[in-house]
Amino acid sequence: MTRYSIFSLARNALTGHKNWPEAWRSPDPKPEYDVIIIGAGGHGLATAYYLAKNHGITNVAVLEKGYLGGGNTGRNTTIVRANYLLPENELFYEHALKLWEGMSQDLNFNVMFSQRGVINLAHTDAQVDAFQRRGNAIILNGSDAVYLNRTEIKARAPMVDVSDDARFPIKGGLLQPRGGTARHDAVAWGYARGADARGVDIIQNCEVTGIDMENGRVTGVQTSRGAIKAKKIGTAVAGHTGQVAALAGLRLPIESHVLQAMVSEPVKPCLDTVVTSGATHAYISQSDKGELVMGGDLDFYNSYAQRGNFPRIEDVVASVISMFPAFGRLRLMRTWGGVMDMSMDGSPIISKTPIDGFYINGGWCYGGFKATPGSGWVFAHTIAQDQPHELNEGFALNRFERGYTVDEHGSGATPNSH
Ligand SMILES: Cc1cc2nc3c(=O)[nH]c(=O)nc-3n(C[C@H](O)[C@H](O)[C@H](O)COP(=O)(O)OP(=O)(O)OC[C@H]3O[C@@H](n4cnc5c(N)ncnc54)[C@H](O)[C@@H]3O)c2cc1C
Repeated sequence: MTRYSIFSLARNALTGHKNWPEAWRSPDPKPEYDVIIIGAGGHGLATAYYLAKNHGITNVAVLEKGYLGGGNTGRNTTIVRANYLLPENELFYEHALKLWEGMSQDLNFNVMFSQRGVINLAHTDAQVDAFQRRGNAIILNGSDAVYLNRTEIKARAPMVDVSDDARFPIKGGLLQPRGGTARHDAVAWGYARGADARGVDIIQNCEVTGIDMENGRVTGVQTSRGAIKAKKIGTAVAGHTGQVAALAGLRLPIESHVLQAMVSEPVKPCLDTVVTSGATHAYISQSDKGELVMGGDLDFYNSYAQRGNFPRIEDVVASVISMFPAFGRLRLMRTWGGVMDMSMDGSPIISKTPIDGFYINGGWCYGGFKATPGSGWVFAHTIAQDQPHELNEGFALNRFERGYTVDEHGSGATPNSH
């Protein structure tokens, strides 16, 4: 694998950038693999990468029905944070955040991770109390959080309306300084390149249509490119988790919903942090191109369509303008949607299943992008060792049977509260 550096850039500049080698191969599927991962989003690719890197398992295929990174990985608003209340989530996301901090160096691929801070605005006294409690819990779990008053919010994000006559007056906010944003496509590309270099086959345009089993154990998959045998199968297909699990006869506590995002026309730098409001439910940051990247709530109906409705766009824009009145002068440029795998407690499922050799990674709700490295790390461990890593013990599928749910409000609204 060519190492990307200032020297390789200069060398290739001399030949007009015509001799860069391909970043990953496009092989035909082999008849059999030790492990098949379904879904080449960030989670599936990170899992393959850590299977090879951490566990020495390289006879691995990642099967993708479309193109790699074309699912939610390439559709999200790229917010990365680890500001959860419950220890199961906080410890897991903090581990992920540490991996983000070294990701570009580890992958030798610039994922443009920018620790510009994430501010959650509080609009009521009750929210102030809840955020201060959450901040304390975050610090006790070894991560970072700072409570900001209105003046401090204004200093960090001068265009926010912190006046008393704002439509939803702001009382304060919880900042996570180490949170921020990253370039979403680069995360998929970086993990794909790293996994490919370690011998993993990434097979695009290959939809899994069936899961073969014998005596309660997986033996392989049926795909649009033929049957492929495997000893172990892991699924990381986000909004399609329910459909793929159904191929193995499992019914999951997951609903698929559309979440939209949108960008304004590009403008000069005016917002160098991420601002979110749980009460109005909108979040906003500025991309390196200058566009304001915005998102909000789900579309409120089950769907597998990667597009959404107009009322939600209006709702997000209205919320953003209530916080940043000046942005009302901008034009909206693009909107799109992704299919979310909403779990019933707002926390993910990274788990073995009742079927031997079949593992599930899903239930990411609004927030799986930030989890990408941590999710791949613990899912690879779960598959390689056939038992959970200590960081995903709480995310077992059978927690819903046992009553040990991880009801996490820091993850955003969940279907049961809609
Ligand atoms: C609009 C929007 C905004 C978001 N904002 C944020 C945010 O700011 N921060 C955050 O942390 N998270 C955010 N998320 C959530 C985040 O994007 C996802 O949780 C995360 O990217 C999921 O990654 P993944 O690899 O599991 O799934 P995906 O990237 O969706 O990858 C799954 C892949 O599986 C493939 N697949 C599906 N079925 C099959 C099959 N049968 N056979 C083969 N392949 C199949 C799909 O084609 C897809 O490429 C947002 C999501 C959306 C839609």
